[in-house]
Amino acid sequence: MIAITFIGSGSKGNAALIEFEKNFFLLDAGFSCKRIKEFLNLRNLDFKDLSGVFVTHEHEDHVKGLRVIFGKHPELPLFCTKGTHCALASRGIAPKSFVDLKYGRELEIANIRCFPFKVPHDATEPMGLRFDFGGRVMSIATDLGHITDEVLENMKDADLLCLESNYDEGLLRSSIYPGWLKRRIRSPMGHLPNEGFRGVLSRMSKDPQILALMHVSQESNTHYLVRETVENFFELNPARFATTRLSIAVQDKPGERLVLERPLPERIKRKILVQNTFDSIWENEEIRSVK
Ligand SMILES: [Zn+2]
Ligand SMILES: [Zn+2]
Repeated sequence: MIAITFIGSGSKGNAALIEFEKNFFLLDAGFSCKRIKEFLNLRNLDFKDLSGVFVTHEHEDHVKGLRVIFGKHPELPLFCTKGTHCALASRGIAPKSFVDLKYGRELEIANIRCFPFKVPHDATEPMGLRFDFGGRVMSIATDLGHITDEVLENMKDADLLCLESNYDEGLLRSSIYPGWLKRRIRSPMGHLPNEGFRGVLSRMSKDPQILALMHVSQESNTHYLVRETVENFFELNPARFATTRLSIAVQDKPGERLVLERPLPERIKRKILVQNTFDSIWENEEIRSVK
């Protein structure tokens, strides 16, 4: 089983809890230690139950709580690229244990295969993550200016796809943001607009079970617009995505727990199929006998 719950997501802070059966990790820590702890406690967990913290990049909305978290729990391992580690160290954030993640190099942690990959964003060495566990794949890419071949390669067969949906062009244009910030957001090293998911979804080798959109801006986007953009895309592709579930992470409260169950082994699938066939014959017999 793989699961992810967004503790909150948006331009003002990002953090999520990832589960691989009984192994728990934090993905980014863009909220206070207190808020993250409150969330963990709601799930009967604490920092001591975590196996580590993955940090995608050093921007404040992804690391706000890290200094206090590592101050109180220095034993927690930090999983990130060397560039992100250096950028954090220069700000005095330095845990005792650091696991160096390199683009394209697989890392195995307790049967979890983790593949860090490069994302185009204006940070030191930002990464997306692909996790392969128990026959299921979860891919995560947040804070990226466009979809590269490398991003697509790591997302195209995901069962659970977590992708940024940062801004609506019309709302960004009329937003109160200064010109330089608008240009930064729109740049190929900035953020993905609402249409960004199309570049991945239209080229996927299979339909994902869950599409989770995240990092939705409160200034230049709305959840209604995000949902409308996805629904329009689904309507234009009637032969696909019939079973894909859409989930949109919100800024100020935890989202739903998104779960990917382990696929059933073939022999059990066959057994269920035989059982169903038998049941339907039995039901038909009953209907006939009642008549
Ligand atoms: Zn960023
Ligand atoms: Zn961000």
